[in-house]
Amino acid sequence: MISVAIDGPAGAGKSTISRRAASELGFTYVDTGALYRAIGQACTNKGIDVSNSEDVVKILSETDIKLTFTDGEQRVILNGKDVSAEIRTEKASMTASVVSAIPEVRQFLLGLQRSFAKNENVIMDGRDIGTVVLPNAEIKIFLTASPESRADRRTKQLAAKGIAADYNDVLSDIIKRDHNDSSRDTAPLRPADDSIIVDTTNLTLKQSVKRITDIIKAKL
Ligand code: C5P
Repeated sequence: MISVAIDGPAGAGKSTISRRAASELGFTYVDTGALYRAIGQACTNKGIDVSNSEDVVKILSETDIKLTFTDGEQRVILNGKDVSAEIRTEKASMTASVVSAIPEVRQFLLGLQRSFAKNENVIMDGRDIGTVVLPNAEIKIFLTASPESRADRRTKQLAAKGIAADYNDVLSDIIKRDHNDSSRDTAPLRPADDSIIVDTTNLTLKQSVKRITDIIKAKL
């Protein structure tokens, strides 16, 4: 089995690039951010304030998260309900970022993430895949881009989905999330020592996908 870990900050293009590269190479694409988003959603559904980590930890034992894959498309099932669409709002992004700093939440999702890489070739994207989840991944890529270009892409992506978002709000959310993700004590966002850093600020989507697939093909 071959595992490719793709980490990096919010909006660097990880999910779009990983999905396309996986489809080209016949790998399964696993978006781990969706798992943190699902935990955030479980809290929202139960009216739990995520800044109270004790309350968040309490609901973990009654939270069941499954990922299903149909034609390369990942769906997120939370307690039997498909929440794939509702976990994509900007509010859900911030909630996910807050719950992801809780060590018990990270521990809760660790086994699940590892299980995906056991039986198939995966491209797994997240923040700590190369450093914590799959430290023995054959290929580790750290995908980054300037905060401005990430905010610009995110705003356009949301607009394409019919979600109105203001560029400046998206930029400040991205900066806040970068800070949350890289300053937390447990599994902070940082490149693994053996990762290849790819900066997509000046690359088109097509060029970025080619860069990533070239790196993977060279190691196969
Ligand atoms: O990748 P995505 O934006 O969907 O991730 C949502 C949030 O989940 C991130 O801001 C980050 O805080 C958290 N996350 C994480 N570790 C991962 C994937 C996501 O902490 N492996």
